[in-house]
Amino acid sequence: MDPNCIFCKIVTKVNPSRTIYQDDLVTAFLDIHPVAPFHILIVPNKHIESVNAVESGDESLLGHLFTVAHQIASQEKIDQSGYRMIINTGPNAGQAIYHLHLHLLGGRRMRFPMG
Ligand code: AMP
Ligand code: ZN
Repeated sequence: MDPNCIFCKIVTKVNPSRTIYQDDLVTAFLDIHPVAPFHILIVPNKHIESVNAVESGDESLLGHLFTVAHQIASQEKIDQSGYRMIINTGPNAGQAIYHLHLHLLGGRRMRFPMG
């Protein structure tokens, strides 16, 4: 827990959010500025700054992020229509919040090519 981190404060409920799922490892909540009809963020409960800070001991945690992403996509019935997952890392990718987070976007056709 980083007391200055906005997503740590959401995980620990110090700050409000529209949380849709939480377990011992991860928390999923609605993005405050959605760019698709369905836009949530899934974060590890533990503070990891970015993919650059990931260590080998985090592998099961990161795998769990994907399992939860799939579960949520199924519950929201966007698994068959399709969805996009994005993890921004560093300035060139536009990472704004330095607590690793996976964007899960769906509910409309995604544009391509990306970037
Ligand atoms: P990124 O550019 O990948 O770091 O994305 C950060 C995301 O966090 C953006 O999509 C923001 O809209 C979202 N965001 C920022 N503050 C909050 C908040 N308090 N609750 C929910 N989402 C947030
Ligand atoms: Zn944090």
